[in-house]
Amino acid sequence: MGSSPLIPGKTAVLGVATAAVVALGLWPFEANAVRRHYTAHVVKRGESLSKIAKDYECSVRELKRANGIQGAKIHRGEALAIPPCGRAHKPAPKARTGEARRHRVVRGESLSRIARNYGCSTDALRRQNGIEGSVIYPGQELTIPTDASGPGTLPAPTVEQSVGKPQKGRLVNATRLTNGKGYYLRRKDRTYGTLETVTHIKRAISTVRKKYPKLHRLAIGDLSSRHGGPLSGHRSHQSGRDIDIGLYYEKRPSGYPAEFVPGSANNLDLAATWSLVEALASSAGKPGGVERIFLDYSLQKALYSWGRKHGVRKQTLRKILQYPRGRWADDGIVQHFPNHVDHLHVRFRCTRSDKACQ
Ligand SMILES: [Zn+2]
Repeated sequence: MGSSPLIPGKTAVLGVATAAVVALGLWPFEANAVRRHYTAHVVKRGESLSKIAKDYECSVRELKRANGIQGAKIHRGEALAIPPCGRAHKPAPKARTGEARRHRVVRGESLSRIARNYGCSTDALRRQNGIEGSVIYPGQELTIPTDASGPGTLPAPTVEQSVGKPQKGRLVNATRLTNGKGYYLRRKDRTYGTLETVTHIKRAISTVRKKYPKLHRLAIGDLSSRHGGPLSGHRSHQSGRDIDIGLYYEKRPSGYPAEFVPGSANNLDLAATWSLVEALASSAGKPGGVERIFLDYSLQKALYSWGRKHGVRKQTLRKILQYPRGRWADDGIVQHFPNHVDHLHVRFRCTRSDKACQ
């Protein structure tokens, strides 16, 4: 454990900021709120749409609609957005006499929309729950007035997240990468991305840790800000599909993971760093999976040499690394980017449900 990442004064400031965010109804989508509602599923070998639908108590139609899928083809490693089917979206049971129905707010819903669906007025819903104004937030539980006459079946809201390009875009309905085991968030206000980006990152980190349980924490640099758009210090990172990730070292350098530290063949834990690159690359080519990983050519060389010595198949190295074909060769998921010696810059693809994503 390093020193505490927050000085005490800062903690208080963050507390006030969080309270303000709640009061304004700008509650960000915490990972657990998303899990309760929308969740991402990474397709495993041999899984079909109908099997996944069944596992999550969704219909195939609901899955296809949430992901903009036309046919029935899905790919291993692809991240699918799973809508809140099952319990949350079955018609609410008819109220027994005197028993109030409850509704948990999901992202994309408004007070008036909920009222309309339950067949009551917005005012009645407000009164019942002591709400002034129209501010509600995902995860909030509402009590439905007992005289509401509607069935309360809400169609799933859309899951658009990434809009435009990484260099000129924005993020809506962002998913937040929250604190978790094995990594450290360098800047907490820049940890927003698409659901799939966040899911793939967490999955890759846990894959590496399963293999090497004693690793130090991994530094997580910037993703995007909550609404995306220009982010100081970057040209991209605008649409929730870019993330800067630190490296693994033989011995955790001082200052890390609060800061990135330049890596080389001499100080890196190449086994763990390769494992991270490989875990990330495993989703490449799939909708919502990794598109490119940017890393300085010199570090690619170090990873390549390690791989050759430790029995990584030549074909795998060739598919993942650009090295040794030259730093401007277009092959390989990992591409040279000058000065990227202290972190990986990982770019994810658009998902099928993000229609405005480029
Ligand atoms: Zn970056």
